[in-house]
Amino acid sequence: MQGLAGDGGLFMPEHFPHFDKKFINALGKKNFEEIALEVSKQYISDISEKDLKKIVKEAFNFKVPLVQISDNLFILELWHGPTLAFKDFGARFMARLMNYYLKREKKDLNIIVATSGDTGSAVARGFYGLSNIKVFVLYPSGRVTPLQEKQMATLGKNIVAIEVGGNFDDCQKLAKQALSDPELRRKLNLSSANSINFGRLLPQSFYYFYGAAQYCQLTNQPINQLTFTVPSGNFGNLTAGLIAKQMGLPVKQFIAATNVNDAIPKYLKSGKYVSRVSRKTISNAMDVGNPSNFARMLEIYGHSYKKMAKDINGVAISDKETRETIKNLYHETGYVADPHTAIGIAAVKQSNVSQPVIVLSTAHPAKFREVVEPIIGKKVALPRQLKAVLRKKKKSVLIENNFEDLKKIVLEENSQ
Ligand SMILES: *Cc1c(COP(=O)(O)O)cnc(C)c1O
Repeated sequence: MQGLAGDGGLFMPEHFPHFDKKFINALGKKNFEEIALEVSKQYISDISEKDLKKIVKEAFNFKVPLVQISDNLFILELWHGPTLAFKDFGARFMARLMNYYLKREKKDLNIIVATSGDTGSAVARGFYGLSNIKVFVLYPSGRVTPLQEKQMATLGKNIVAIEVGGNFDDCQKLAKQALSDPELRRKLNLSSANSINFGRLLPQSFYYFYGAAQYCQLTNQPINQLTFTVPSGNFGNLTAGLIAKQMGLPVKQFIAATNVNDAIPKYLKSGKYVSRVSRKTISNAMDVGNPSNFARMLEIYGHSYKKMAKDINGVAISDKETRETIKNLYHETGYVADPHTAIGIAAVKQSNVSQPVIVLSTAHPAKFREVVEPIIGKKVALPRQLKAVLRKKKKSVLIENNFEDLKKIVLEENSQ
């Protein structure tokens, strides 16, 4: 519920539970729900198995297919959820866990979150329809794509979309001010649904096990030579993979693939970490100059650069290489990758790995069709989730960049 620790640090488990060989060897026989339940049970001991099963079932009501592209290249599609990106895993699971505890304690919660686009839609969708939680999503007017706006501002029910006359930083300031406002804090239970919440990392470890399980089923090969390639920005996704390895999943290597925001690939090559101001790219969900999960990565490897560099290979990919990869992959195999996934695929090529590789595919190409369509010279069909949302009417409240207006809305919504 707290997200960040009181001293500003990130929460970590005191130790990682460990699966035995028997569990790993039987992975190939398990489906996603079974794996999700087995893994979460190791961390969550105060929810009955029956209730946890229900949470898992409702959170992951979409498929997670592994697609074979060539002999040794596999793509794990993590974008079949409602917002067509992998953030659905973390947002939906965390939302249902929070709602479960709130109900049990007969409490309500108000979440106030600022977004520049993608996080807002995943959080809004993740919490949509839950009984004890209200979400206020603040987004900058005219600065999110029409599709992103529709994804967060057409929901209604417990989701209040607030369109702010200002930029993203203004939204973030307003959200912070609301979270620390004495009157709001006295009257309401407040939280920020932060992206660094451990409750969002845990569910992301499930699909590493499930990717390995499907690899087993598809190829009849043992899983101990697998490499996972992870398109990375804030490094939550990759950290979830490191956690799966800590829990006993035999991963040979991770490839951390970034765009030109390459603080971690640089660290993995030199042992020196230098954070930078983020640079804009066509894989914009990965434009992070100073990834917050680096602290967790250091913790997992006992602050040993040597150990980390042995497990993780870092590769940075330019926009030009990203475009070429989308184009070549399409012409060679017919597969259409979004710019983030393409970075993962380009990183595999550059790393010259000869063993089987699973690339995590983090978004559906239709979400970035302005970039993808001119490269492949063809339209990308809109999946049904997007078509449905585009037909809906926007229901946001427009406010100036003014805290009193925001406060009034939050209080009003809570007095009904
Ligand atoms: C958020 C995001 C990423 C980066 O994930 P991290 O966990 O922050 O490293 C990659 N691709 C897409 C499409 C995203 O939305």
